[in-house]
Amino acid sequence: MNTLLPENNWPQMEPGWVWLCGAGPGDPGLLTLHALNAMRQADVVIYDALVQNSILDWAPQAELIYAGKRGGKPSAKQRDISLRLVDLARDGKRVLRLKGGDPFVFGRGGEEAQTLVQHGIPIRIIPGVSAGIGGLAYAGIPVTHRDVNQSVTFVTGHDQSGATPSSLNWPAIAQGSQVIVVYMGMKHAAAISAKLIEAGRDPSEPCAVVSSATTDDQQVLETTLSCMAADIEAQGMEPPSILCIGRSVLMRRALDWQAMMTGQAPRDTDPLNRGRPAEAS
Ligand code: SAH
Repeated sequence: MNTLLPENNWPQMEPGWVWLCGAGPGDPGLLTLHALNAMRQADVVIYDALVQNSILDWAPQAELIYAGKRGGKPSAKQRDISLRLVDLARDGKRVLRLKGGDPFVFGRGGEEAQTLVQHGIPIRIIPGVSAGIGGLAYAGIPVTHRDVNQSVTFVTGHDQSGATPSSLNWPAIAQGSQVIVVYMGMKHAAAISAKLIEAGRDPSEPCAVVSSATTDDQQVLETTLSCMAADIEAQGMEPPSILCIGRSVLMRRALDWQAMMTGQAPRDTDPLNRGRPAEAS
């Protein structure tokens, strides 16, 4: 069916179906093969602002519809997007709904999927690499590390009203999770830091801010909890960004693989002060 895909029993998109698919955080190479298979078959691709344009070139046969909600472009309402998907499916199209990262991570994919199902439209879900994991990996930050954390909490930095989510139990998060990864947190970085410090986190705790992760514009800021907001401003960092709070950020000193790609030699460092080789138990 498709010479670019390795032999496999690839699912076929049927007319009237909607596939909700993650496009990963940016780098086209982070798309899944299921996503590529869908790109090759779709009649319509309805995509978000965070989806890279180069990825869209992989569906040359498809009609492309922009459904983004940022960047000064006209904002599409969630209800309109969901109902548009219903209409396209009812018109008998093979519809690919392409969303940044993973469709079920802070992306309202669950709501879109439910609307479709409620209207009798069959769906398939294709997971993607989420920015809070893959984006940090591109900065050389392992989201878990045995010497740092046995848990990680993914948090959204703002709620539907745009404020820092009041439904979150910040003291519980501060005390219960060694590493905290914040999506959509740039605007409220100062408030988030203050809440975490108030709840007992060390103001000098290592933090990283990774913006436009996995793209050519990726920027990484290493800072501390108390300095994070001021440093974001001083560096002029722009969304989309992931905030990572916790000692796993220190691992970047050893694992900044993108620096190696630009010629830096691997360094024998011990960022977590283990005092023994990494392979020792
Ligand atoms: N479903 C997406 C998240 C959507 S919410 C996922 O799984 O990744 C949008 C937020 O995701 C942004 O505000 C930002 O916090 C984060 N994000 C998405 N792509 C990003 C990228 N390339 N670099 C940094 N953050 C990103």
